[in-house]
Amino acid sequence: MGIYLDYNASAPIDPRVLDVMIDVYRNSYGNADSRTHDHGENARILVENARKQVASLLGITSSEVFFTSGATESNNIAIQGLDEYSNQSGKKHIITTGIEHKAVLETVKAMQKRGYEIDIVNPNASGRIDPKQVIELIREDTLLVSIMHVNNETGIIQPVEEIGEFLEGKNVFFHVDATQSCGKLVDEIRRLKYDMLSFSAHKLSGPQGIGVLVLRKRRYKLPPVKSIMYGGQQEHGIRPGTIPVALVVGCGMACEFAEKEYQINCISMKSIKAELVNLLKQSGVEHYFNGDQNYCVDSTVNIRFPGVMSEALMISSKQYCSISNGSACTSKSYSPSYVLEAMGIPVNEIEESVRISWGANISLEEFQKNMGYLLNAVKQFAI
Ligand code: PMP
Repeated sequence: MGIYLDYNASAPIDPRVLDVMIDVYRNSYGNADSRTHDHGENARILVENARKQVASLLGITSSEVFFTSGATESNNIAIQGLDEYSNQSGKKHIITTGIEHKAVLETVKAMQKRGYEIDIVNPNASGRIDPKQVIELIREDTLLVSIMHVNNETGIIQPVEEIGEFLEGKNVFFHVDATQSCGKLVDEIRRLKYDMLSFSAHKLSGPQGIGVLVLRKRRYKLPPVKSIMYGGQQEHGIRPGTIPVALVVGCGMACEFAEKEYQINCISMKSIKAELVNLLKQSGVEHYFNGDQNYCVDSTVNIRFPGVMSEALMISSKQYCSISNGSACTSKSYSPSYVLEAMGIPVNEIEESVRISWGANISLEEFQKNMGYLLNAVKQFAI
């Protein structure tokens, strides 16, 4: 196996996080909602500590943090959970973008079938949506605006800051899918104005299968989001089901490390990107970045190599590096990336595009060596 460069699909778990989790699995097996014994109480203490770690990273209070199974579930609850309020208020209009993760896009499509009116905003080739287009679509009956912070395929940062500022104090809920930015754009998220925010722990070196839905209070009141499942009263009824204590603790630890280390991580990710740009230049291979790089995070690139089919490139260089050409969630059957399509990129160019994404902890030496192999493969295909 070559170097792993698909962090946007899932980042490897931080061994320090794993160690803490194993200890919890071994020694703290109680149910955090058991009230009758110390084992339950001990588990509850661990869960509440993790909630504080998450809140501290995001700059919010721990009563605004709700654990879920991941960003897919958080997005579903944030959107579908407003159904009851929508029926009461008559607000049935939702605005989102064509580059959202399927966990948002498929959810709003399902809402459309239930009578909601959906407006979808697409970016241009920059990969960044125009906030004015979103703002112009807002109406009296707009229930929700749902926009991702960083796109998973291009790494392009979306103007959620501007949209949040505009929506502040308005009677419209603002949901941000921060799955690709949480733990990376730490100061930016702290500044953001939003009502709901989603992320998965595994994108910031925590465990898979655990995520967070943040519900921000407005004048001490949470948004009127209701559970989308029937069950117990866990997570204040927002997400019924036994709390997976070790996963929650892993999520909390990942947030704590992200908070302590994000500045140094940023420097390291930036230097890897600079090295990639350097290697591309030195290799002389023709290449184009998809999306405006002035707005791209330092941990992702989406590159097009003219004349090189991405599928063939990925197969031929599999032993050197694990990269991708689209979201893992839609990759069962090959179809051109809907994100790049929404940016207006022609299908033949999409077929020549790959995503490379990394974390702060990869070895620069390994990266240089394996990128060298990849670029040699590109050269051979491009002949
Ligand atoms: N939103 C975004 C932006 C993502 O990148 C992902 C994961 N690819 C998700 C939501 C869904 O996350 P999960 O599969 O962990 O539920």
